[in-house]
Amino acid sequence: MEKLTGYFRQVHLDFHTSPIIEDICRDFDARKFVETLKRAHVNSVTVFAKCHHGMSYFNTKVGIKHPHLKIDLLGEIVEECKREDIRVVAYISVGWDNYMGERHPEWLQCDREGRLLRPKPYEPGWYTLCLNTPYVDYVKAQTKEVLENYDVDGIFFDIVFQVRPGCLCYYCRKSMKEQGLDIESEEDLEEHSLRVEHRFMKMMRDLVKSIKPEATVFFNGRIGPNLREEAEYFTHFEIESLPTAFWGYWHFPFYVRFVRTLGKPVVGMTARFHKGWGDFGGVKTIEQLEYECATMLANGALCSIGDQMHPRGKLEDAVYEIIGQVYRGVEEKEEWCRKARPITEIAIMLRKRGKRYFVYERSDYGATKILLELKYQFDVIDQEADFSKYKVLIIPDEGSISDECEDKLKDFLKRGGAVIFSHSATLSDNEFRMPGVDVEYIDTFKYRPEYIEPISPIFKLPTHKYVVYEQGLHVKPKKACEVLAKLHRPYFSRTYRTFTSHAQAPAYAELPYPAIVRSRNVIYISFPIFKAYFIHGYHVYKRIVEGCLELLMPERLVKVKAPVSMEVTLLRQDNRLVVHLVNFQPHRRGLGTEYIEEVFPLRNLELEVRTEDEPSRVYMAPQRRELEFSYEKPYTRCVVPEVKIHQMVVFEI
Ligand SMILES: [Zn+2]
Repeated sequence: MEKLTGYFRQVHLDFHTSPIIEDICRDFDARKFVETLKRAHVNSVTVFAKCHHGMSYFNTKVGIKHPHLKIDLLGEIVEECKREDIRVVAYISVGWDNYMGERHPEWLQCDREGRLLRPKPYEPGWYTLCLNTPYVDYVKAQTKEVLENYDVDGIFFDIVFQVRPGCLCYYCRKSMKEQGLDIESEEDLEEHSLRVEHRFMKMMRDLVKSIKPEATVFFNGRIGPNLREEAEYFTHFEIESLPTAFWGYWHFPFYVRFVRTLGKPVVGMTARFHKGWGDFGGVKTIEQLEYECATMLANGALCSIGDQMHPRGKLEDAVYEIIGQVYRGVEEKEEWCRKARPITEIAIMLRKRGKRYFVYERSDYGATKILLELKYQFDVIDQEADFSKYKVLIIPDEGSISDECEDKLKDFLKRGGAVIFSHSATLSDNEFRMPGVDVEYIDTFKYRPEYIEPISPIFKLPTHKYVVYEQGLHVKPKKACEVLAKLHRPYFSRTYRTFTSHAQAPAYAELPYPAIVRSRNVIYISFPIFKAYFIHGYHVYKRIVEGCLELLMPERLVKVKAPVSMEVTLLRQDNRLVVHLVNFQPHRRGLGTEYIEEVFPLRNLELEVRTEDEPSRVYMAPQRRELEFSYEKPYTRCVVPEVKIHQMVVFEI
């Protein structure tokens, strides 16, 4: 746990450099390289031992040194970084290695159509090697070489995964046969992929540990809902998530809230590029990067910014000027972030599809979006997690729960916990497995769309029949349970035979099925409300979830009067409570992606925090500006005069 403490300001320095580039490292100067990092307040750097091209950047006897590299790049960087007290991690590309892929096509992964995973002859791209072939011995030997000859603080293994459901190369077919697995079974292929991946990670973890017990080990490409089963192979987790590239703005908020529940340090990894990796000449604004790092700190994570060094070996001043400005800010904030732990009240529960956890992206991101916008404090948990830390569990839209989870939920409800679940979540063989709910599954919506009419005063909505854009379920209460919202049908579904006006036909008559029911501390919503919110962004769905949460959990941890886009988290650090206010102000630009260019400060935000006891002082950090406050058990109130991009408010208890 302690290995990474304090390394808030990391750079992940890509250096995938084709062997056809001849002037590699022409301008490299180790002293200047490290000076640039120092100036930019960087205290940890991940540098290349071997890249996706299969080229090594050190004096290797095992691997293939870049043909035009005259110096020992890794060696010079390690030596100079050590002198300046910068942590250095060696990067090794595993799954992608073009040099070995071209020479050993028998080591390439092979999909079910018999296609080798390699670029088409006239397209650029990487060769994907199988982790079940003798290639692994090569990776192992080279890792050993790096660890024995260089004083690195950790190894970052990249591209550690097999094709899904499984690789069918000669070696995989052979080992599946030996293990009694059927190559025609998708389930067996999946099982074999996991065995291969886990064996690889265990082997590498053991190797690193045997040579350098203090070194960190991370395998990239593994962050997902099943991470718990392989967590033992990692010293920490890095969440690669570049919001302006294909990850988008919802990947990080969702995954950081899950990964941080697994008990290891978490690093958030973005990059300086305008778009994704390798975007030479693409640079983010300071505001964009500051926002991204703020979300990491606000969720208890360390920061890592990705860059790629120019082949000639000089770090770009323009890039390190921006990283430096952002990391200077991070450095000032660290005092209030070190070993801080998020405090939460709600958890979104992951569900299974078949035997394994699956992320129902639209539903899970939709639930994340609603809770973030409503400023609740929440985690994302798997079914093995400790439920007792939470007041409310949300089981969104789809997916199944295990027998053990069913028992845990019973216990959770007995102890006063509450659950909101929706649509077909926990439904198995037409029976809801969610304990404590008294509804019977009938069928799916007959009409497209149907309408919801909230009738309970808990919903802060005018009485109206609101459209349900996604198809839901018809259910019937088994016993008397409280109906919070009714369901209505339209005149007819819109088809070429029956249509009226531009869009859906209006509401026509009430259906004998409720849209929302409550049985004591369990609320069931009969349509995929979280997915619907993510897709359609209809504010009514958020208000419905808010009404349910206020009913089940009248007292919340943080209340703040701030715009929807403001992100608010609460962390505990010894006797301090630290509220992070992160002002997200993106602009619509380009085709699709939103970017942050400038941020206007928000002023005079009323903030209430459930501190339980009266604080001795309340102040803004890192400015150390004292704030007036009032206390009325259990809440402390204050007014935050200004939030630019990221503001911490500290309650010393
Ligand atoms: Zn294979």
